[in-house]
Amino acid sequence: MKIIDYGKHDVDENDIESVVKVLRSNFLTQGPAVPQFELDLVGFCGAHDAVAVNSATSALHIACLALGLGPGDILWTSPITFVASANCGMYCGASIDFVDVDNSTGNMCIEALKEKLERARETNRLPKILIPVHFTGRPCRMAEIFKLSKQYGFRIIEDASHALGASYSDGSLVGCSKYSDVTVFSFHPVKMITTAEGGAALTNNKKIAQDMRLYRSHGITRDQEAMISPSSSPWYYEQLDLGYNYRMSDIQAALGSSQIKKLRKFVLSRRKIAHYFNSHLKSPLIILPKYSDYSSWHLYVVQLKLESISKNYDEVFNELRKKGIGVNRHYIPVHFHPYYRKKDFSHGDFPNAENFFQRSITLPLHTKLGIEDLDYIISMLEQVVR
Ligand SMILES: *Cc1c(COP(=O)(O)O)cnc(C)c1O
Repeated sequence: MKIIDYGKHDVDENDIESVVKVLRSNFLTQGPAVPQFELDLVGFCGAHDAVAVNSATSALHIACLALGLGPGDILWTSPITFVASANCGMYCGASIDFVDVDNSTGNMCIEALKEKLERARETNRLPKILIPVHFTGRPCRMAEIFKLSKQYGFRIIEDASHALGASYSDGSLVGCSKYSDVTVFSFHPVKMITTAEGGAALTNNKKIAQDMRLYRSHGITRDQEAMISPSSSPWYYEQLDLGYNYRMSDIQAALGSSQIKKLRKFVLSRRKIAHYFNSHLKSPLIILPKYSDYSSWHLYVVQLKLESISKNYDEVFNELRKKGIGVNRHYIPVHFHPYYRKKDFSHGDFPNAENFFQRSITLPLHTKLGIEDLDYIISMLEQVVR
């Protein structure tokens, strides 16, 4: 039986050629391909600087470090996300809390954020960093979040792992970082473009960019201007802080540069599929995501009206899998995981997120799907829930 994956990379002969060219060159890493990919990202999104790394998880970590997050500090993010959006704060020794989501989008709820900030101000527990997550590729209401950051004095890292190619309601592209200190992308194969593993952190702040580059590579600099005891000896370098090896290789970056050329096409193709689902899924037992031309449509997540369906969640899920439809579930709320439960979170803490999770099922959406796949998914889903 044919299996329709929920997500899939789209790699063509040009991508393969670009990678092979690097393999035949003098540099497999630390050559010209990474700076070129960084320029391509900046060129596409419009920020001043991009720092390419080996994953979005690493990008989130160095962004937190560059913003000075440490023990005693607080980081807030959304419970409806991949664990990395919260783990980056734990890496820095900070404490984590969550802001409940909006029922209809799964994005951080602005009203819940305002209330939580007001309470936090009274108890002197304001966050140092807020990480909104553009769930499924639909951008959060960043202009409002940005305004709140000025009012309450917190920094913003956008987890835009889903949202490369998406735009804000004013038309500017996610990644331009006009509403945040740093924007993070992921290039895992299921995401908008791929470098196999990889990520990037974009910013308009030179100092933040410089610090992130330092943390990417052991905390080491070869830049005389940054040194404590500058020397012009060609062998000399200094470790200024404790960094990591989070570098992206030239092999990966070449794939990224080749992929980003097709990003506009990928986004259009995903929007078309989302639009097709929205106009052809008719079952009253399913709540569809609101269609938006601003979303990059990394994921297509519908809500099952379980109270009106004669099957439970797992029955629906398993039956679809049995029919070859690679449905998935995004996401188990982060505070449900045993690691976070140990930190005093429990069921009931974020009711909208928990309700959203109970009903969410992710349908396949990627650029390789044809109309016949979409029609099959639609008819099977409607049959299974009926
Ligand atoms: C994929 C993803 C990440 C992690 O990306 P990696 O590149 O795999 O480290 C982080 N946050 C969100 C929301 C993601 O979807």
